[in-house]
Amino acid sequence: MSDNCIFCKIVSGAVPSTKIYEDNDVIAFNDIRPSASVHFLIVPKLHIDSLASCENEHQALLGKMLLLAPKLAKQQGLAGFKTLINTGVEGGQEVFHIHVHVMGGGDKSRNN
Ligand code: AMP
Ligand code: ZN
Repeated sequence: MSDNCIFCKIVSGAVPSTKIYEDNDVIAFNDIRPSASVHFLIVPKLHIDSLASCENEHQALLGKMLLLAPKLAKQQGLAGFKTLINTGVEGGQEVFHIHVHVMGGGDKSRNN
């Protein structure tokens, strides 16, 4: 848990979200500003700033997040989807708690 991290607050339940999945390690919820008809985020419960902060010890967690993407996408009715991990300010990252975007079902105007 990192103070003032919006995704840690979602993980703890202090901030509400539209949760679509949860287990011991990860949570997935709909993006509050979707850029596609279906747009959710896969987020580890462990606070890690970004992909650039990951170490070998996070390998299994990263694999778990990626393997969840097609399963949750299918549950959300998607036949195909895009994944995105923004990394660093210059990589467009706004929330510094690592997350995988999963998007599909037709773009909205915002280009994430
Ligand atoms: P990124 O630019 O990769 O850091 O993306 C952060 C994403 O988190 C953006 O697409 C935001 O719309 C989304 N986001 C920020 N706050 C919330 C929230 N409280 N609930 C759901 N999604 C959020
Ligand atoms: Zn966090």
